[in-house]
Amino acid sequence: MKKILITRKLIKESEEKASKTFKSIFNSNDEIYSQSKVIEMSKGCDGILTSLTDKMDQETINKLPDSIKIISNFAVGFGNIDLEAAKKKGIAVTNTPEVLSNATAEIGILLILGACRRAAEGIESARQGGWKWSADYLIGKQLTGTRLGILGMGRIGQKIAKIAKSLGMIIHYHNRSKLNDDKEDGATYHDNIKSLFSVSDVLSICCPATKETENMINKETVEYFPKGAIITNVARGDIVEDEALIDALNRRKIYAVGLDVYKNEPNLNPGYLKIKTAFVLPHLGSATKDTRVAMANLAIDNIDEFFKTGNCKNKVN
Ligand code: NAP
Repeated sequence: MKKILITRKLIKESEEKASKTFKSIFNSNDEIYSQSKVIEMSKGCDGILTSLTDKMDQETINKLPDSIKIISNFAVGFGNIDLEAAKKKGIAVTNTPEVLSNATAEIGILLILGACRRAAEGIESARQGGWKWSADYLIGKQLTGTRLGILGMGRIGQKIAKIAKSLGMIIHYHNRSKLNDDKEDGATYHDNIKSLFSVSDVLSICCPATKETENMINKETVEYFPKGAIITNVARGDIVEDEALIDALNRRKIYAVGLDVYKNEPNLNPGYLKIKTAFVLPHLGSATKDTRVAMANLAIDNIDEFFKTGNCKNKVN
């Protein structure tokens, strides 16, 4: 049996599956391991099942024991892992695509609704009491007929587009490559972000965090949006330059934000907390039981497939 270090506590069913499949080292306290602890604990192991809280940078990967042949990430995103460094050391990296797309798209829609309909202020008022219904009380932005820009129309982006369309939104998107008609499903393609942002009454960020997308929302690009636009991010915090977005919110250039992900999680920029129209969630994208079990099972299956066949369909490096 292969020996696998599982860096974070999984849901019970998944740990049972891991126990049957490998000689597994579990993290019963769900402590977040330091990089040096991951290196230490992986001695004698064949693989590591990591989470987005594990920073597997070049230095960490280079110090891993030579017995490690696979890092199976318990997420579709893999910005926490230096793919090149892993490849150089002969370590395969895998992710868990598709199984979390529905759950994450639901949160993507919640961010759009929450930001457009002033849910943060509404919740605060309802909890405090003393509010009074009136014709102009907490007037928000209606989704019907509003243009939704999707930055990264992949698996999650397409699901958000489908739901948003059913709510009457008009879909625009930007990817590096245009989708076929079937996947586009009537959405309008923009071959650059300036063009996309300029028609986005609401933006949904759904692309991965990469060197290319890092700080794509910045001081310059925030000016491309129509005045009073809404920006939502269900992808990764690294895509947003927080100071630029907070400044745009304070100037009312941007009307509201809906955010699930942040730079330096869990320490989001405190500037967001001072903004009433910021609808903020603590990285809940894939947080449903069915999805978390499906993700863990896929992460386990990826390791199993890799050791049985020498390859894996979800290998990303
Ligand atoms: P995906 O299917 O690979 O879709 C990514 C899309 O982004 C593709 O359409 C891709 O199109 C586009 N893209 C990539 N690089 C780009 C660039 N430089 N400029 C413009 N577009 C670019 O991925 P997915 O499964 O939908 O997941 C997307 C991201 O969501 C993940 O990477 C992850 O970080 C995040 N996520 C967050 C949560 C959460 O809990 N909040 C949960 C799951 C996933 P092209 O290749 O044609 O450019």
